[in-house]
Amino acid sequence: MNKQILENIMTDYNKKRLKAAREAEERKKKLYEAFPELEEADRQIMLLSIKLSKLFISAPDNLEEQVLQLRKDIENLKRKRSKTYEDNNIPKDYIDIRYECEKCSDTGYTADGKRCSCLNKQIISGLYNMSNMVHMLSKENFDTFDINVFSNEVYKNEKLTPKQNMYNILEAAEDFCNNFHRTGINLLFYGGTGLGKTFMCNCIAKVLIDREVSVLYQTSFSLFETVENHKFNKQSETEENRMYYNMIFECDLLIIDDLGTEFNNSFTNAELFNIINERLITEKKTIISTNLSLEQLAETYSDRIMSRVFNNFAPLKFYGKDLRWESK
Ligand SMILES: [Zn+2]
Repeated sequence: MNKQILENIMTDYNKKRLKAAREAEERKKKLYEAFPELEEADRQIMLLSIKLSKLFISAPDNLEEQVLQLRKDIENLKRKRSKTYEDNNIPKDYIDIRYECEKCSDTGYTADGKRCSCLNKQIISGLYNMSNMVHMLSKENFDTFDINVFSNEVYKNEKLTPKQNMYNILEAAEDFCNNFHRTGINLLFYGGTGLGKTFMCNCIAKVLIDREVSVLYQTSFSLFETVENHKFNKQSETEENRMYYNMIFECDLLIIDDLGTEFNNSFTNAELFNIINERLITEKKTIISTNLSLEQLAETYSDRIMSRVFNNFAPLKFYGKDLRWESK
């Protein structure tokens, strides 16, 4: 079924390209009807161009002279054509094919063979539709976020009450969304369970997805499962797994939820570093959410991971009484 996602997307691209070509053809027909001299000019230019290439093959004695003459004729025709366009206020690109995505001409791939950002978005939305994420995001977003569930009484020895603290987090989350393409800031949500970390991740995901940002949400457990399948089961790796694996590096925003719940070992440590480091280098954003304290994080993960995190992630501490509001 997941192969199906990609196939459906590719069918869509084909349809888009055909539609764009058909529309360009229709514009051309309309244009030629109104300006027959343009059709004639285009026809002549084409004939002369063919003559020119034939000339190079036959290579007569006066090749240079004939080439020069033909080029001059073609230039003249093009000038005449341009003048008709200008005199009649016809846009220069009127009969060009107009693709929805100019970066990849609606093929999904750019000239250097890389997946176009428009294809990544489509794949992610395909994956989202398959998961229960869409349903989740319709329930958990900034509009349904209720600040009043947080207590306004001092909590342990924290300076701010949980409610005041949540106002700050909310502001940071909104800033993160509004300046998504402008700053290099990543977010680290940490603190106990049931305090709204996942909810806050979903709020951010919803806003950014609506703004056409490609967002991949993964629990730490599923993230490493994907990486493991990719690294160790290459032969039997499913299309779905490969898509997820590529998205870990290619999506605009990666949300790693519940970091610390995976089976932690040197493999996960190395891979986590690889993911975080690669995404920093390519200037892609990451949000990490964890139930561990900063001290526990530092004990669990290697120094080089923690130095990347501490230098590039804004830490936001969630605290207060376990609300379990996420399960409401
Ligand atoms: Zn594209």
